[in-house]
Amino acid sequence: MATKYVYSFTEGNKDMKDLLGGKGANLAEMTNLGLPVPPGFTITTEACRAYLSAGHTPETLDVEVTSHLREVEQTMQKRLGDPSDPLLVSVRSGAKFSMPGMMETVLNIGLNDESVQGLAAQSGDERFAWDSYRRLIQMFGKTVQDIDGDLFANALQALQDRKEYKGDLDMTTDDLKELVVEYKQIVKDATGEDFPQDPRRQMDLAIEAVFRSWNTDRARIYRRRERIPNDLGTAVNICTMVFGNMGETSGTGVCFTRDPSTGHSGVYGDYLINAQGEDVVAGIRNTLSLADLERVDKKSYDELRGIMQKLETHYRDLCDIEFTIQQGKLWMLQTRVGKRTPAAAFRVAVQLVDERLITTDESVTRVTGDQLTSLLFPQFDKSASAKVLTRGMPASPGASVGEIVLNNEQAESRVAEGASVILVRRETNPDDLAGMVAAAGVLTARGGKTSHAAVVARGMGRCCVVGAEDLVVDEVAGTVYVKSQDKTLHAGDVIAIDGTTGEVFEGEVPVVDSPVMTYISHGLEAGLAASPDEDTQELVYAVDRILTHADAKRRLEVRANADNPEDAERSRSFGAQGVGLCRTEHMFLGDRRKLIEAVILAETEEEQQAAFDALMPLQKSDFVGIFSAMDGLPVTVRLIDPPLHEFLPDLTELSVELAVKEAKGEEVTEHEKRLLAAVKANHEQNPMLGLRGVRLGLKIPGLIKLQIRAIAEACVECKKQGKDPRPEIMVPLIGSIRELQIVRDEAEKIIADVEAESGVELALPIGNMIELPRAAVAAERIAAESDFFSFGTNDLTQTTWGFSRDDVEAAFFNDYFDYGIFGTSPFETIDWSGVGQLVEMGVERGRSTKPGLHCGVCGEHGGDPVSIHFFDAIGIDYVSCSPFRVPVARLEAGRAAISNESEHISFAPATAPVDLAAQVTELAAQMADLANEIRKQDK
Ligand code: PEP
Ligand code: MG
Repeated sequence: MATKYVYSFTEGNKDMKDLLGGKGANLAEMTNLGLPVPPGFTITTEACRAYLSAGHTPETLDVEVTSHLREVEQTMQKRLGDPSDPLLVSVRSGAKFSMPGMMETVLNIGLNDESVQGLAAQSGDERFAWDSYRRLIQMFGKTVQDIDGDLFANALQALQDRKEYKGDLDMTTDDLKELVVEYKQIVKDATGEDFPQDPRRQMDLAIEAVFRSWNTDRARIYRRRERIPNDLGTAVNICTMVFGNMGETSGTGVCFTRDPSTGHSGVYGDYLINAQGEDVVAGIRNTLSLADLERVDKKSYDELRGIMQKLETHYRDLCDIEFTIQQGKLWMLQTRVGKRTPAAAFRVAVQLVDERLITTDESVTRVTGDQLTSLLFPQFDKSASAKVLTRGMPASPGASVGEIVLNNEQAESRVAEGASVILVRRETNPDDLAGMVAAAGVLTARGGKTSHAAVVARGMGRCCVVGAEDLVVDEVAGTVYVKSQDKTLHAGDVIAIDGTTGEVFEGEVPVVDSPVMTYISHGLEAGLAASPDEDTQELVYAVDRILTHADAKRRLEVRANADNPEDAERSRSFGAQGVGLCRTEHMFLGDRRKLIEAVILAETEEEQQAAFDALMPLQKSDFVGIFSAMDGLPVTVRLIDPPLHEFLPDLTELSVELAVKEAKGEEVTEHEKRLLAAVKANHEQNPMLGLRGVRLGLKIPGLIKLQIRAIAEACVECKKQGKDPRPEIMVPLIGSIRELQIVRDEAEKIIADVEAESGVELALPIGNMIELPRAAVAAERIAAESDFFSFGTNDLTQTTWGFSRDDVEAAFFNDYFDYGIFGTSPFETIDWSGVGQLVEMGVERGRSTKPGLHCGVCGEHGGDPVSIHFFDAIGIDYVSCSPFRVPVARLEAGRAAISNESEHISFAPATAPVDLAAQVTELAAQMADLANEIRKQDK
């Protein structure tokens, strides 16, 4: 049977987003709820994929479109482009995941030189008909025919200037007719052909243009940023046109069922009288509020409020809605579960629980780790005497400080040079995306809370202030003029913006911990005390309730990667249940590097022993500090891992230094000569695959003997102080059981010696990292000698892919994203179908030898939300991540447990890998910038 490419709005539902895109699925859902949706149909994402791979539309699609179009024509009792009474349609993109403003839309399809007269006659409004026609030519020319949009915009502006008009509303019918003639000439000049008059051809070309818009540069950048896979394609929605530009009783608007900034329920939205389509979002004129709509059109307002309530009850979540009022009749154009600020996400989730609309379990799944992360960001210190320059509307919370930049190029180049920047624009449009991605914050002079800048910034978790009308932004002059202060700022001047209050400050403003961060580190009382107002208190309560529930539900334990007592303490206060990775080599850097150098340079056993003796007390006191900070909790201490050259000077630098000395006739000391020889001897072509990990321990056994003794003695010391130290000894880079056996035998001897010397009994587990494919494959054997496994997914990713991370990320990862080989970097999110399978195999094989073998993950993936869901699903016992990520991991582990549990309840078919793939993709798309933000925090 031929593939079905087209679904009428009455055929779909909200769960068909893969096929119908988000917009199409929700239009269908609203249609089936009996809401006033203009009739129409959706062309599937599958058709888009077929078009993109074949380069033309499937023939059966044309036939299906015809029959669905006829259905709509029958319902509406009109024909597309009929000269006397035309049906007009919109052709809109709509992918599975919302990509605001990234792809194309064409309105008013069906108008031509004849049907414009019919529309004028039927509507009784000639001006409206010609305005619609000129809009069609403009949109169609730009979107479908790739004509420079400025040509149309300039012609429009020139006409208004000639006639000394203030704006588009001043234009008369004759002006619009004149403009249509000009526009058609622009089309002819650019394409060599007349503007297409055949309505069906207009529609077909528009459909293809929407398909193609899936692959525009800006759409690709957006997808990469939002981790949306490149191969999904977009659906196309063909919808009967309704008109918001039919005079004063018409208009178009956007609203939310709750305030997307605070979560509070209430009337929240923007409305623009006598306007069409994207005018509201584009921020070209300032909008009215919904309260104003109540004044001007109470009937539509009341109906809209009723629908808002119905949708929120139906979706059991905050919805955002696009609507149009055509001469007093309300039409619903779109709805979806609305984007919201991180603070609103927590508040709304808890409000919905309190309203008995969702369960507490569900509330945990309604928030994400990246939302929690952004609540942990520092805020401006209100007690500092910062100078408020001006105010705009708070559109996306956060506190950012940076240099003013006025366009994408400035933003990207200054950020590449290490600067933090604030993108300042009159308003933004999809072409500004690259600048918004690069900037720490976004400030616009025009537009409301639903403008492009606001919607996109909220989606990205970027701090944003919009509609600061006091500002005049002149990109060409490189200036921002502050009217109220009669002051001119220049690109490069530093400002600070507060996305929670809308304030714009001149110069640097100091930042302090957020109340949520205070709560995380010092508990509920402290968090509430640090909250400046009731809204923030409500937020702190909400985070506490959700995190407490996540903790109660999660199966995964969360540990932290920490190599010093301060980090250990901090992570403990963040809720870490131990240290999952203590990288001991970090203790050999700084002043102590020389001691390792001495070990390497030693020519006799005595010399080497002297170097070990010097290291011993230092290493022991490190461990005493960490075991004390983690008293009563496990601390997994990894024996030294990196190649020796990391403790020696750089080969080139040292060679040059000594050559220069020689050339100057200065003496090169014996020590320097030995050092150079050692550096040369330890130089490796591929250090990542060379003398490191357990290999180093076998090559210089004294080094790990020293470490094992230091661990054991530190443990004794802590016990003597009445503490409960719980170290675990971990051997890195194991590939063979024999490697582990040798180290284990040695370790057991040392531990027995320390027990005998101290009279204190020690029970120290000895386990290993699984970082090599061989270890995962041979896990069944290795487990026989191991008390626990910890998967080092950083190295396991390097060794499975054969990637040297330091080399490949800069060299070609961007190309790999573009080719769609990766949706996300395998170093950020576990490559579940490759590296992940090795982890799963390692766990299974290890446990086949030792049932219940304790298994953790201590690579960076241990703090990555998507990966955490994967690790939960394959039965890992704990994840270990950097201290700052601990709260995020707690939340995500709770979410993972709840969603995996609910899958069991629904008796999902046992197709785990497929389900996981979908889950991983879905989560990846939700969790846009977590990894980047966290990396910034980590620095
Ligand atoms: C790993 O390889 O995942 C790991 C934790 O070790 P490191 O990052 O120190 O190599
Ligand atoms: Mg490693």
